[in-house]
Amino acid sequence: MFDLKRFFSPKSREVSPREGSLQTDRRAEVGVNNTETETPTIGDVRRGLRQGLIAKYGEREAAAMAREIILHLKGWSVEQLLADENREASEYVINRSQEILQQLLKDVPLQYILGEAYFYGLKLKVVPGTLIPRPETTELVDLIVKENPQADLRVLDLCTGTGAIAVALARNLRFPQITAIDISDVAVKTTLENSRQLKVKLNVEQGDVFKLTWPKDSFDIIVSNPPYVDESERATMERNVLDYEPAEALFVPDDNPLVFYTRIADIGNESLSAGGRLYFEINPRHAAELSALLAGKGYSDIRVIKDINGKDRFAKAVKKV
Ligand code: GLN
Repeated sequence: MFDLKRFFSPKSREVSPREGSLQTDRRAEVGVNNTETETPTIGDVRRGLRQGLIAKYGEREAAAMAREIILHLKGWSVEQLLADENREASEYVINRSQEILQQLLKDVPLQYILGEAYFYGLKLKVVPGTLIPRPETTELVDLIVKENPQADLRVLDLCTGTGAIAVALARNLRFPQITAIDISDVAVKTTLENSRQLKVKLNVEQGDVFKLTWPKDSFDIIVSNPPYVDESERATMERNVLDYEPAEALFVPDDNPLVFYTRIADIGNESLSAGGRLYFEINPRHAAELSALLAGKGYSDIRVIKDINGKDRFAKAVKKV
């Protein structure tokens, strides 16, 4: 195991093959050379973290993670880091960094370790038991915000998880009324905490989408990023996802991969207003099948939309007027 403290000891510095680059780094980045002092600086801790993470995560991600850990532990902005990282590191920062490093080397996602994730410019609480919001999903929020400038829209977010979509929409639509549903009590609790933390009003309820119903004309928009990964895709997935993220938020059976979309399209037919919109995040593998399903259920203006990586990641459909 990589030991952060040994990384700082003068002895290991002498024998470390990376000493040269570390010294150069330090002079270049903070203009300080404190090899004579025993106490490491915050910059030393950041570089130690980065060094400890490189083999597993690669240069770029290691550097980003190391920086995020320090910002989190210090409660600093990037500007403060640049200005102040030549200050001495406290025991707390050193010990906590060491613990976080060990967890990262065991594949625990950084967002679970820190208990937070950034989504659509918002800092959300995340806990094991809730899926970590993905960057692609911000594109779905963007699409909805761009296409729906009206005020007072009634929005239903199904399988809300951390509440990422619901909270981001609440902050960016004009006076929306948003209901967020999840089957998991951890998810419901986390969504409520995120709505309080970010000062938005959501109607959050625990419920099973396969059982819940709503009256006719209850919503203008239904959005969902439901579980959509085929069981058979497990083999291609990373350990940090498989070992730590909730399987029930990710996987659907190979023989019924559109089970959530089928149900949600039915809910839409019942409870969307005429001209109401469905917005989904989808599995690119089943984009064509999903379009056919929505057409078969009477929706119009069905569109599949690519994500930033060029994959068919979202779908939109309109309930016929
Ligand atoms: N995009 C996620 C992943 O690939 C899956 C999200 C979901 O199932 N809704 O890990």
